[in-house]
Amino acid sequence: MKTQSVKRAVKKLRNVSIVHKFGGSSLKSAKRFQAVKKLLNGEQKLIVLSAIGNTTRLLRQGLHEAAAKKDFLTTLETLKSRHSDMAKELLSDASSYLNCLQNDISHLSTIYQAISIMGHYSELTEDFVLSYGELWSSKLTAQFLGEDFLFVDAFDLLVVNKHHGHCDVDWKKTEKKALDYLKNKTFKHLVVTGYTACNQENQRITLGFNGSDYSAAILAKLFMAPELVIWTDVDGLFSADPRLVPSAKIVPKISYYEAKELAYFGAAVVHPQAMLPAMKADIPITIKNSYNLKSTGTMISLDGDASNQVKGLSVSEPMCLLTVRGLGLSTAAHMANKLFEALHLAHIRVYAASQASSEHSLSVVIAAKHRDAANKICHRCFDYELLTKQIEKIDFLEQVSILAVVGDALQNTPSLFEKFLQTLQEAHIDIRLIAHSYGARNIAVVIDELKAQEALVVVHQAVFEC
Ligand code: ADP
Ligand code: MG
Repeated sequence: MKTQSVKRAVKKLRNVSIVHKFGGSSLKSAKRFQAVKKLLNGEQKLIVLSAIGNTTRLLRQGLHEAAAKKDFLTTLETLKSRHSDMAKELLSDASSYLNCLQNDISHLSTIYQAISIMGHYSELTEDFVLSYGELWSSKLTAQFLGEDFLFVDAFDLLVVNKHHGHCDVDWKKTEKKALDYLKNKTFKHLVVTGYTACNQENQRITLGFNGSDYSAAILAKLFMAPELVIWTDVDGLFSADPRLVPSAKIVPKISYYEAKELAYFGAAVVHPQAMLPAMKADIPITIKNSYNLKSTGTMISLDGDASNQVKGLSVSEPMCLLTVRGLGLSTAAHMANKLFEALHLAHIRVYAASQASSEHSLSVVIAAKHRDAANKICHRCFDYELLTKQIEKIDFLEQVSILAVVGDALQNTPSLFEKFLQTLQEAHIDIRLIAHSYGARNIAVVIDELKAQEALVVVHQAVFEC
């Protein structure tokens, strides 16, 4: 690239004023697309889109059906008709969009057919298939918003290493790839696919569940945007999931760290990893409601809100508590190392851990969906210790969840910790494991899954409503 054109491309890249991300909840119908168009006005912007509500679930359903050698054509037909109906409603000339959609559906049908013959599919195949949802929603949006809006597949911009489900941006390669791609393009605004990226081998990957938030934060940093707005279906980040706690209050300001903790333990409104690029580039993230433009939303920034308050509560997806017991654990530090390494190699994330040398046990909390895989890997990696009785037992306590309380205030207000424990005790909710360390911004406790919502409500009352 000549120096002049590099300069031009950099300038173009860095001229974006705001990055807007719309989740599937904001893109449920043609009416919602019209609402999105209305709220976007003025300055140069970059728009990041998730798939139209429910699309990713249907694409995944097709994968399961194909692998089980069941009918997948009905699912494909649903995907096609949902998108073509919307395109016909939104575009004055939908022909090129519909041709493209038909082409993609034919490819998908071939992929599903191959999976059906083999009876299985790889992670890369899954990523490839799931990316179609964002391609369809972004192409439709770019065409609907008008000729000033250039559709861009994030595959052509972002280079991301995906290792054991964890995604890391290769910033150097991303800058180069984005510049190369955009240098000769004419555009005023960009519409970029969320959720998807390219890996070092030039293969299509996805950034995981709710990954479009992460895509938007990466793009905000890449384009040095002054702000990232995540548009969703609630007024902002609440003190608890408003679906579970109707009295939850909106949190007007919160720090990146606090928001990351809440998201990590289950606040689905934003992806925990989205905080990292934004934090590095000091870009504030605002969470707003695309259904209620009057709401001011939640601002996530470095400073957050310094008031001495707990910010929120989260409840995780179903978990299980894996415990390894045996006399060998009292002396051998390598046992802990071995357990964590084995889980890591099996792509199983540990959410909390506790070791009690006196009881010769080590417990870790993992997602319930990984129970069988964890059981297998633990028996394999500790086969010698089980044989020699250094380890007596590997057991699982199932149907548990993590309840987390988050707030910088926890670092220096021990009474909050006491109040939390007392409230759970008074509600007769047993704690199976507790993770809280000096200076920590959160307390995470493992409780029965069936009591999780009750726990959320009583703790919320105790902390926020009195
Ligand atoms: P989108 O499609 O816009 O990405 P998501 O479904 O991923 O939307 O996230 C929005 C949902 O997150 C809300 O509808 C809400 O029920 C849920 N949620 C969970 N915890 C919280 C919280 N603490 N604050 C706000 N919303 C939350
Ligand atoms: Mg989301």
